Amino acid sequence: MVASSALVQELRRAIRLGKVLTSPEELIVYGYDGTWLERTPDVVVCPASVAEMTAVLTIARQYRVPVIPRGGGSGLAGGSVPAEGSIVLSTTLMDEIVEIDRESLIAVVQPGVINATLQAAVERLGLFYPPDPASLNQATIGGNVATSASGPRCLKYGGTKDYVISLQVVLASGEVLHLGSRSHQPGPDYHLLQTFVGSEGTLGVIAEVTVRLLPRPSARGTVMATFDRLDDASRAVGAILDAGIVPLALEMMDRVTLRCVESYLRAGLPIESEAMLLIDVDGDAASVAEQVALVGRVCRLGGASIVRPAETPEESAQLWRARRSTSSSFGRIRPNKLGEDISVPRGAIPSMVRAVQDIAQRTGLLIPLFGHIGDGNLHPNILCDLRDKDEMARVAEAAQAIFAAAIERGGTISGEHGIGLLKRDFLPASLDPQAIRVMQRIKQQLDPCGILNPGKVLG
Ligand SMILES: Cc1cc2nc3c(=O)[nH]c(=O)nc-3n(C[C@H](O)[C@H](O)[C@H](O)COP(=O)(O)OP(=O)(O)OC[C@H]3O[C@@H](n4cnc5c(N)ncnc54)[C@H](O)[C@@H]3O)c2cc1C
Repeated sequence: MVASSALVQELRRAIRLGKVLTSPEELIVYGYDGTWLERTPDVVVCPASVAEMTAVLTIARQYRVPVIPRGGGSGLAGGSVPAEGSIVLSTTLMDEIVEIDRESLIAVVQPGVINATLQAAVERLGLFYPPDPASLNQATIGGNVATSASGPRCLKYGGTKDYVISLQVVLASGEVLHLGSRSHQPGPDYHLLQTFVGSEGTLGVIAEVTVRLLPRPSARGTVMATFDRLDDASRAVGAILDAGIVPLALEMMDRVTLRCVESYLRAGLPIESEAMLLIDVDGDAASVAEQVALVGRVCRLGGASIVRPAETPEESAQLWRARRSTSSSFGRIRPNKLGEDISVPRGAIPSMVRAVQDIAQRTGLLIPLFGHIGDGNLHPNILCDLRDKDEMARVAEAAQAIFAAAIERGGTISGEHGIGLLKRDFLPASLDPQAIRVMQRIKQQLDPCGILNPGKVLG
């Protein structure tokens, strides 16, 4: 469907500082995210202010046209993929860091600020914003809030949800809702703010975000440990925590992942090992040295074949580059991937890892496994070719089996990427039906015309 010229004209009248895009070559860029799903929107609007955002929502409601909020388009659940005949509302022009208050340890940002930009800005002032999705160079803070993003450092410091203290949200009605305050404590509002964190653009458009910051730890160390048995690597995770260390990050890459990344980066990764752990610790210099030594000892005792602390920041950066290249490297092996995002209790990690390996063998698919193992958040990526119908039937079978295995173990089908379009059909199996009914009532209350990101999460 092509957007009516009356709608486009009205949008153009309302959006003076921002942009309204309608040419096919512009629209196509806003039609996909990090999944294989895509659909070209009818019109893209890039508002330059909260007032312009409000105008978009007001006009969309009047015309009953769906609005798809979009940040960096790095989502892995199809959340920002347009619905039929929709307006994509892109936050790219609202990318200003409004304020960094050093004394109160607060940053106020517009939704389109890129995560890495905020990190760099606060670090220059000796401060620290922990949530660090591996997509930090592309993902926006608005998108991070909407998906409740996590990242490697969330093991020690918590995820986006733990840092948002105030939000401005434009509702489907066009009204602007202010939630929270500049205090680091939650206000007396039923914790409504948290209802919007992780709401994936279905309840409101995040228009401004206030996050709390921390003082930046002065030192950081990285240890790489390889294991000939994946089970030993999984158990070493528990042993590190039992030793009284909460690492800044505790990441795992299995052998299939190591081989994919090595063929992409040629970084000299240990491709014969069944698993590699990447462990970061932080604090002051003395405590970092102590933690690095203790992590090394625990890993050796736990059966690690190689334990190598990074000698320099460059060596550490190289190891982290390998971890952050996992997704890109899979493209060299197969053209498509279904990236899963299950999370299980820590004690269930070894059996979950074995379950994924069994599913890979049974379905004849390549399923590299990596993730924030310290949190129990694992990313089995099912590599495939969308053009191969037989293979895609096996992909569906494998995805379902992985979700079922996670739920059986007391886990969830999404640790951090959200539900979007890709996982919505699995939601009923993973939530109490009463919880789904309450979610539907909240959606109905806040968006009675169903114009905000329709079809996502609840279907
Ligand atoms: C290589 C790679 C690595 C990744 N690693 C991680 C990781 O470690 N941890 C993690 O959590 N995620 C990760 N992701 C997933 C993704 O980056 C996150 O979900 C991120 O938070 C999405 O941000 P975005 O700005 O790109 O949002 P988009 O993809 O544009 O949108 C995602 C969802 O948020 C909604 N949305 C976006 N902006 C707004 C807004 N202002 N108001 C309301 N709704 C909005 C959209 O409608 C959509 O539902 C990774 C993705 C890739 C491609």
